[in-house]
Amino acid sequence: MTRPKGVILDIDGTILRSNQVIPGAGETIAELRRRGHPIVFITNALESPAEQADRLAKAGVVVSIDEIITAPQILEGYLRRNLPEAALYVISDPPLAERLELDFHISEDPEEIEVVIVSCDRNFDFHKLNIGFQALRRGAKFFAVNADAICPLPDGEIPDAGAVIGALQGCSKRQVDIVFGKPSRLIAEAALERLDKPAEECLIIGDSLDSDLAMGFAAGMTTVLVLSGVTQRRELAYARLQPDHVLGSISEIFPRSFSALSASRR
Ligand SMILES: [Mg+2]
Repeated sequence: MTRPKGVILDIDGTILRSNQVIPGAGETIAELRRRGHPIVFITNALESPAEQADRLAKAGVVVSIDEIITAPQILEGYLRRNLPEAALYVISDPPLAERLELDFHISEDPEEIEVVIVSCDRNFDFHKLNIGFQALRRGAKFFAVNADAICPLPDGEIPDAGAVIGALQGCSKRQVDIVFGKPSRLIAEAALERLDKPAEECLIIGDSLDSDLAMGFAAGMTTVLVLSGVTQRRELAYARLQPDHVLGSISEIFPRSFSALSASRR
């Protein structure tokens, strides 16, 4: 009998659509648990693991905080280990800036700023762009919580961190030094460590080719694309790397025989 595979699950577009559970997702997670699969949820969203667990619980999916890994957590861990005293300039929606302010030195002085950190910022403007630009041209590090191009919302898509990164790259001619969220190696390693499994014994199930699946391809995981979120089936024709499995939604995992799914590789 083979050991149960580790399962890495994306949240938005895979388990939840806005704040509603995707039909069958709760039952699938319960069945994964019943069969002994260790599970971890990973997200590029800025809310804390406790806030994510709360969103999931309100939708009827009970998840412990320890099972959730967020991109901001990976960033914060890195800063704590490597740059605990650095002056940070944060271009982001409030949840991230407010949390970083508690533990780190935040500055708006380009002469002092050592790290420019960007994410989705719905109040991004020329003032912020100029501070970031001035700091980057003076040699500050350039970190991105995530690099997602768009963020799906209930009433349509909005520009995400990729837009802020693009603006800063356009003027500074600098590239981002580190992306912390999916598809980065850093968040993949954190997930594998939490599952205590090697990549080849893990599945990534997600709705985004650019973040979830790209992370899985790079790490050597078995990749499962669900079409319940941002990716349309027709986009697969142009995808450079093809997922191992494509499902309409996470609810199709067990009807398709999970053991066959988790055993097969590209
Ligand atoms: Mg998603």
